[in-house]
Order: sequence, then structure tokens, then C-alpha cells
Amino acid sequence: MSRDIATLQLSPWQVGGANVRDGVPERYLTLHGAVSAWSSRFPGSCHWLSDTTCGDERWGCDMAMGRFESHVREELRVASDEVIEDAVTYADPLVLRGLMFQLTGDEEVARARLDTASLTARGVVGGEDVPLLQRKAAEFLKAYRDAGATEISIGDEERLPTSLRLSSTFELADEDMGLYLEELSLDPWARGLHWQTPPPQERLEAFKVIVIGGGLGGLNAAIQLKRSGIPFTVIEKNSDVGGTWFENRYPGCRVDTQSRSYTNLFGVDYSYPYPYCPASENERYFHWIADRFELRDDILFDTEVRSATWDETTSEWQVSIDGPDGERVLRANGVITAVGFLNRPKMPDIEGMSDFAGPCFHSARWPDDLDLKGKRFAVIGTGASGYQLIPELALDAEHVVILQRTPQWMMPTPGYRTPYPAQVNWLDRNLPFYTNFMRFRAAVSIRFLSDFSEIDPDFDDPDACSEANKFMRDASLAFLERKLGDPELVRRMTPPHPYLSARPLAVDSEYSVLDVLKADNVTLVTDGIRRITKTGIETVTGDHVEVDVIVYATGFHATDYLFPMTIMGRGGVTLEKTWAADGARAYLGCMVPGFPNLWMVYGPNTNGGMHPAGFHEVVGRYALECMEHLITDDQRAIEVTEAAYWRYNHLLDERNARKVWSDPRAHNYYWTEFGRSAVMCPFYPWEIWHFLRHPSFDDLAVR
Ligand code: NAP
Repeated sequence: MSRDIATLQLSPWQVGGANVRDGVPERYLTLHGAVSAWSSRFPGSCHWLSDTTCGDERWGCDMAMGRFESHVREELRVASDEVIEDAVTYADPLVLRGLMFQLTGDEEVARARLDTASLTARGVVGGEDVPLLQRKAAEFLKAYRDAGATEISIGDEERLPTSLRLSSTFELADEDMGLYLEELSLDPWARGLHWQTPPPQERLEAFKVIVIGGGLGGLNAAIQLKRSGIPFTVIEKNSDVGGTWFENRYPGCRVDTQSRSYTNLFGVDYSYPYPYCPASENERYFHWIADRFELRDDILFDTEVRSATWDETTSEWQVSIDGPDGERVLRANGVITAVGFLNRPKMPDIEGMSDFAGPCFHSARWPDDLDLKGKRFAVIGTGASGYQLIPELALDAEHVVILQRTPQWMMPTPGYRTPYPAQVNWLDRNLPFYTNFMRFRAAVSIRFLSDFSEIDPDFDDPDACSEANKFMRDASLAFLERKLGDPELVRRMTPPHPYLSARPLAVDSEYSVLDVLKADNVTLVTDGIRRITKTGIETVTGDHVEVDVIVYATGFHATDYLFPMTIMGRGGVTLEKTWAADGARAYLGCMVPGFPNLWMVYGPNTNGGMHPAGFHEVVGRYALECMEHLITDDQRAIEVTEAAYWRYNHLLDERNARKVWSDPRAHNYYWTEFGRSAVMCPFYPWEIWHFLRHPSFDDLAVR
């Protein structure tokens, strides 16, 4: 790739100033689009971030003097017509419709008819005008190639809302367009802090933040802090970054939301070898982040936070850590926790567990050196982890015994385990802004959860909570029947709970747990477990299965937020005590009264509303804007008021009561012993985005 360097003159205000406060005005897009072209298209240029400081002298200078690099797509310049024509047949037609309209303004493209109700074998929509879109895209690429394939602009920004609608199967309201434009990631730093006024250097340097956790949420917080010039340290209990993807290494472990939305805005041009990346690829992304943004020196690895205590006299957190240098206390003005809620393995309590003579471990503690060949495995637990693990084990192990208490609903997903065809990655590299539109499509797709999970009080059905919910159940049941044939096996694999009342699992349409149930080396046991013996498992019917290895795919302490750390706020009150009455809660999923300057990434009731990376980003931005307020106004502490906390939680509980996971037939790990879900978020993505777009200072006490 060759690069031309041009100079882009922007004032700091144009880049990071007040224009971003007013929703998404035109100027925002114009200017941020330009910065985007500079920084997202050319990963190398992102180094400006780590160089950027926000002191009086240097405030914005890196941006103002920033170089605009444009590059030539050498690969496209030498591509034959045949290569181009072949590649476009692998493009998502919905993306082609929006993107081609955006780049060209061609009304014929906008009128192209697609069948959004059905998917082809490649997992994309079909329709009579697919060939037209492919021809238009090929013509565009050939002309672009012949013109030199240099950097080009996104085209008329006025067209963007229409283009996004042409790429979407959902309605996109005007008032939510700010969310969708962010998801498009033309500005990879849209979810960072844009200082309203230059912060006084001495106050900026004196404000220290501790981020707990070096996974998806923690690394994003770290990058955004670094970019804002706010000093920080990340505390990570593992020896490397990655969080859940560092820990979960069982065979078959992979993400079950699309990878393009499981990465950050600034990762839009990251090369995704799979639509749903396996754990090792997810890890590779986290290494890319840590290296690209030079974060490793900011992270204390192999170090665990034991407690955090608010010091009333200094308005600081005293964070007690335990690492290679022993125990010590760090002081910080703010703390961002990004520890995940599916992080602490939950082992069952079954008689005789310690008697078993062979290897036994939780699915999140898979041993590196375990050879599957010739071994008989028992897998206890059939949630997402168990169902992912079983078909991979069945490929190599001598025998797999599945101990299933409750089956889970599955979503057949074409190509779930398959790498992208080379043509898709070619499009990623050579069709301008293809990655942006692909990311937008992936990010907004979580919306389906909201649509299919709403309880219709007038819908009376033994198995479902609404017409739409029943439609999903029927589709999933048809998949079971098609795969299994045998009605008795279908009965044993049919979940008793409504669809989406627990998390359904994305599985490969061609190879999943359903494809191995009838294999000679797989046995499904649905009788309960009586005890574990030295050599195997005894069921309640008295049968004994002999195995060599037991895997506990028994889930996590999902509702014990921030467990096992002790977090002590004002007046020596712990979070545990605050939540003792009815379980974990938070304001906007991130703040709790009595715990100033503490923000939780993916805290209580944040699951399911927005895609995880996006939720992390909007909470991260919210936290940084709170910090901006403290630093700029020379204040010490910010916390949510009791009134706002309860107002939000009453709304949340009322909305959660209308969701299928509150249905009496539901069975899931979302519920606490207090009879409420501490996990699920009932709001639509755009509601969450509006809630968290900026701090509402009426809800916050600042002193
Ligand atoms: P889980 O959904 O909580 O499933 C735990 C399983 O263990 C259930 O089948 C449960 O049965 C069973 N179990 C627990 N105690 C038991 C006992 N004493 N005896 C027999 N069975 C017992 O845990 P998970 O599968 O690890 O998944 C948790 C979450 O992690 C998922 O929902 C998902 O959010 C995330 N995850 C995501 C991915 C991905 O992205 N691809 C992969 C894995 C996990 P009952 O249902 O009867 O209680």
C-alpha cells in the first residue's frame, strides 16, 4: 500500500468542540468524516492518539496539525474485471443498496427491490434486483480502479440517513439517527470524550483513574482515557488482555453475535476472518488493540483488585490490589469497573465431586494440554458453553456423555463456523466504506431481540408470549425436527420455556449439537445426577456412566455483580449491603448512589439491550463526560441521586415485567433470589443511547 500525505487543517474546535453536543449536526459529520478517513482507514496514523495530550499548549494541536493520509488501493488497481465481478456476488445486497446509493446517488440503486424476509444460503437477503446491485457495484469498482483507486469521500452526507435506511431491515427514526451514524463508524472516535473547553493541565494530570479489567470494556475505557489525556492504570487479574476470551478456551468457543459488532468503532477496519470469530481470533483482536494503542505499559497484569474504599476526606478511591509485588493500595479519583458479569465460574454442588479420580474442570478453565483423543467425556450443563463444546468434542473424543437438565433454544445460523470467503475480505479491503456499512448492519441487528421478546398480554398460548415470539419458536422447533427426525429426541431437546426467555444459542445450520446426538460416540442423558463417583456419574435412576474427564459447563455467578471484590462507598457502606434488599441495581446500568466517581461497564441490567461493545462504548463516554465535568469545574465527586436511581429502576422493572424473560414459564440465570432480573435490559438500543448520550446533571449530585 502506498501513501500520499496531505495536510488537513482543522481547528481544535472543529474537531472536538461544541458542535458534537447538539445531536449530530451536519458540521459534525463533515469534520469527523474527514478525521475518520484519516485515522480509521490507516491504522498506522492512529498513533496520533497516543501522542495527543490535552494540555493548554498542546490541546488539539495534533488534531489541528493532523496529516490527512490517503492511500491507493494497490490490490484494486491491478484487479481484473473478473475478480471484481466475482467479488461483488459475495457482497451483502442490503449493504450494496445503501452503500452504492451513498457513493453515487444513483436513484436506480435506491429503487432496487430486495426480499428482506428471507435469507439465501450465504445468510444474506435475496431479491429480483440483486444482479442489478452487483452490476452497479462492479461498474463503480472498475471506474474507481481506472481512476487510480485513491482515497475517496463518503459522498454527500445529506444522503446518509436515506442510505442507512436502504441498508436496514428496520425502521430508523430521524431522532435516533445519531445512534445509527455512530454505528456506521465514519468517526471511529465518536464515542470518545470531546472536551468542551481545554482542561487546565495541572487538574488533568492530578486526576487519576483506575480501570478494573482488560477485556472488551476495559480496553475501550483505557483507549478513550488515553486519548483524552486523563491518567489511568488498568488492573488485570490475568497475564494478558482479553478478559472472557483469555479465559474461555474450550473447543468450539466462539462469539455468538456478529464479530463486526463485537468490536469497537475504532476496529471497523480490523480484518475479520470469520463472521463469528472463534475465541483465538477474539483474542487476536484484543492484542491488536493493546499493541496498536500502546496500552501494555498502562496495564498491571497478574494483579487482582481485592477492594475499593471511598476516602471521604480526600474524595478518592483507595484500591487494594494484589499482584507480583504483593499487596498494595493505589489511590484514584475515579474507578471504572469492566469485569464482565459472566466471569466468575459457578461450580455446582453435587455429592461426590471431589471423589472423581480423573481431570475435572469448569468450561472456562479448559487445560491447555488436554488431548481429546481416546478419552470419554461427561459434559454437565447445556447452556451456550455446553452446546458449543459438545459437537467439537464429538469430533475427536472417544465418547461424550451429555448430562442435560434443561435444553436451550437454538438459532440456526448459516456459515456460523465457516471463515469468510476470500471475496468478502477482498471487498473489506477494496470497496470503499464496505466495512462501515457491514458494521452498521451487524450493530443494529440486535434490535430483533427487542421485537421478539415483548409480552403481548392478549396473546394466550401455552408456549409463547406473542405472535412474533411464537414465530421464532416455531422456526426453532422446525430446525430441531429437521435435524433430529425422531419425535422422542425432539421432545427431549425441546425447551420447556418460551423462546428468548433464556438466551438462545446461535449454532451452525450444518454442524451443531443436533448433528451429533445420534452419533455412536455421543449419549444424551436427561435423568438427573445423583452423585459423582471415582470413575463417573451416577444418575437418579441408578445408571452409572464411566468417564475419564468431567467438564462443568455450569455457568457463572451472573447476578453477583463485582463479586468477589468489596466495594465500600460513603459512610463505610458496601455495595453488597446496598444491594442486600433486592439484588444488584444501577442507574443507567453504571452508577449507584453512595458510590461517587464509580462507573460500571456492563453493570446490572445491561444485557441484551444493545450490542455489548456498543454498550461498553456509550457507558465509557458517559463516564468520561462525568470526569470532564469534575476536572473542568474543579469538583471532587459526582454521584447519582437516590431519586434518579429509583426513578430509573422503577421504569426498568416496569419494562422488564413486559419481557418474555419475566414470563412465569421462563427459566434462566438472569433472576436473583429476590424475584427480579438483575441482568436483562428491557430497553431498545436507541433508548439506551439517548439515556447515556450525555450525563443529565439534574440526576447527579456534584460537589
Ligand atoms: P448457563 O447458560 O448458565 O448454563 C449452565 C448450564 O449448567 C445449564 O444447562 C444448567 O442447567 C446447568 N447446570 C447448572 N448447575 C447444574 C447442576 N447442578 N446439575 C446439572 N446441570 C447444571 O452457562 P453457559 O453455558 O456458560 O452460558 C452462560 C452465558 O455465557 C450465555 O448465556 C452467554 O451469555 C455467555 N456465553 C456466550 C457464548 C458465546 O458468545 N458464544 C458462549 C458461551 C457462553 P439448568 O438450565 O437446568 O439450570
